[in-house]
Amino acid sequence: MTGIDQRQDGLWTEDGDERLAASGRGRTVSVLLPLGLPRPYDYKVPPGLDLEPGSFVVVPLGPRLLVGVVWGEGTGEVGDNRLRAVEEVLPVPPLREVSRRFIDWVAAYTLHPPGMVLRLVMRAPGALEPQRTRTLLRITGEAPARMTPARTRVLAAAADGFARTPAELADEAGASASVVKGLLEQGALEAIDLPAEAAFPAIDPDFAGKTLSQDQWDAAGELRTLFGEEAPRPMLLDGVTGSGKTEVYFEAVAEAMRRGRQALILLPEIALTSQFLERFEARFGVRPAEWHSDLGPRERRRVWRAVAEGRAGVVVGARSALFLPYADLGLIVVDEEHDAAYKQDEGVSYNARDMAVVRASLGGIPVILSSATPALETFVNAQAGRYGAIQLASRHGAAAMPGISAIDMRRDPPERGRWLSPRLVEAMIEALEQKEQILLFLNRRGYAPLTLCRACGHRMECPNCSAWLVEHRFRRELACHHCGYTAPLPRACPSCGAQDSLVACGPGVERIAEEVAERFPEARISLLSSDVLHGPRAHEEAIRQIENREIDIIIGTQIVAKGHHFPWLTLVGVIDADLGLENADLRAGERTFQLMQQVAGRAGRAERPGRVLLQTYMPEHPVMRALVAGARDSFYAREAEQRRRLGQPPFGRLAGVVVSSENPAEAQRVAHEMARRIPEAEKVQVLGPAPAPLALLRGRTRIRFLIKARREVNLQAFVTNWLTGMKVPGSVRVAIDIDPLSFL
Ligand code: ADP
Ligand code: ZN
Repeated sequence: MTGIDQRQDGLWTEDGDERLAASGRGRTVSVLLPLGLPRPYDYKVPPGLDLEPGSFVVVPLGPRLLVGVVWGEGTGEVGDNRLRAVEEVLPVPPLREVSRRFIDWVAAYTLHPPGMVLRLVMRAPGALEPQRTRTLLRITGEAPARMTPARTRVLAAAADGFARTPAELADEAGASASVVKGLLEQGALEAIDLPAEAAFPAIDPDFAGKTLSQDQWDAAGELRTLFGEEAPRPMLLDGVTGSGKTEVYFEAVAEAMRRGRQALILLPEIALTSQFLERFEARFGVRPAEWHSDLGPRERRRVWRAVAEGRAGVVVGARSALFLPYADLGLIVVDEEHDAAYKQDEGVSYNARDMAVVRASLGGIPVILSSATPALETFVNAQAGRYGAIQLASRHGAAAMPGISAIDMRRDPPERGRWLSPRLVEAMIEALEQKEQILLFLNRRGYAPLTLCRACGHRMECPNCSAWLVEHRFRRELACHHCGYTAPLPRACPSCGAQDSLVACGPGVERIAEEVAERFPEARISLLSSDVLHGPRAHEEAIRQIENREIDIIIGTQIVAKGHHFPWLTLVGVIDADLGLENADLRAGERTFQLMQQVAGRAGRAERPGRVLLQTYMPEHPVMRALVAGARDSFYAREAEQRRRLGQPPFGRLAGVVVSSENPAEAQRVAHEMARRIPEAEKVQVLGPAPAPLALLRGRTRIRFLIKARREVNLQAFVTNWLTGMKVPGSVRVAIDIDPLSFL
């Protein structure tokens, strides 16, 4: 983690029971509302209302009624007679203390109001309303005072001990509703209220564990010992792709179940696949609770309640699952912990992996960070001993690691207008002859990333963003990948009017698919790209086809790079391995290495050995050399050394501040005012204001500052000090991003 000091004092206030205004004035409480307010507000507690810290309550704010959470006793800052009163307590378990401390921690770290973090917790419409229940009847064994033939029939029907609705019971016994009611009143039947929603079945930790190899067994044992520790260190589970990391951390999940606690498995959103859920079910006998953005409101409500009431044992979710109101969270697993999808950039910007470490630390529970290519931050933390580390060095069973080689595109160039080099084509022919599967990887959606006019050189750009429009030939349109703007591909150049002069430049996956279809007309091709597959079902279906060997050649963007296990896939071809190295991002090398390694990890996962071919114009680049040599640790060590020299994360700290507005002049004015106020501080450097690389996004002009500080600097205090008192008009947004991953 980038220098998060978990022991910073004074970031959150204690529950402050001692501040209870125990004088005769009556009790007041402070209530945090899910809004961008600077702090909780005080409310009076009407006599007889039973409240505790964490209670979900309804309170008035202006003309509205809102749901908030009791954050502590009242601060007494506002005179009693001006306070308004709590209206109602909701029948939901109170938010646990550890969750409340977590909210305050995240707020203080990310410099967002705590109410905005609370909003992440409350994202389940309807979950706070009283639960609908249905009443079932069950036999008690007590005899009624007087028997009748109808009563006898009802008791006979209920004799198996199963609970039934009153209507079902009457129906089965051929008796009237009043007979059933009479038996209930006499105590021969009892009513049980059950939640109207389907329950989460209990998870059986011993359902069907695999027989672990010695290495896996040792690793699982080490994870289990974490549960006995009072303040366990975060643990990096570092194993090559296919080494069985999932099987190993499932053992930790099983241990949490045995201890009667809840477990959270975080996956990068994209990896929330049916494949993973099926694996979970095979291991534990039941499906876990799921939490991600595709969930409908009913399911959201069901999961939220079950998590809060402790009825859901395991949650498998995307980053926002970290903010569920766990009754008793006992373990967090962050799978593919290096994945940039853990970073949320909109609204409260946080890195779920880092916040998972914080949440675990606050709860004194184990957190497992699993990856074949850890984030450099995590790698450095493990080397420094701040995190523990467990290695799994080889693939499970007979599978070997695939050999990676580079294709020097300067020596083996494709024909004009083509993108596959002859060497890659040859390897594809061989694989097809062997009836093996091929994955061609290109991290670019659409047909072509740029469309330009042959006559005048005009480039087709998005009107709302500083970005090129990407041609999507299947949909016959040009699209902006930043704002979603689309337009039909024009016949004439909008700039010079020349007819049929627009040409596609460079390849996207659709263009690769076109070339493959021409070269291999017999092959069955599947194009996997988020804009081609509509919804999770289409994705599942595509995966199933590949598993059933109904597909020979898979062409995909990064949605195929992660997590999937295709036993018959033996050849991976990377169309443009240099793609990620084009930008000057400090993590460009690290990211490219990780992505290539992940994609490569899809090859040869079963008996048949795999090979990986990287098409590159710079085979001598350190990233390519490290990939070909399989020299991960020395590559990481060199990257770390370079970061240390430049004072970059994790050896230094960064924050991004983006000023944006639909009105360019307003954005400029605010940025200038901010620049004027930059405080003098040692060991802190503020770069900017400068136009952001994405200088226009969704119609907003964007101006960036980048704050670089030494590791020991309290970056949050610096930024707070800088921006406090800034008057920002409503038309301008100032977005703060601590530990940014994106510099656009
Ligand atoms: P990783 O998460 O490290 O990429 P996985 O846990 O996905 O690795 O394991 C790769 C494949 O090997 C999976 O199909 C998994 O079921 C299988 N596997 C791993 N360990 C074992 C084991 N001990 N017994 C049987 N199969 C295993
Ligand atoms: Zn756009």
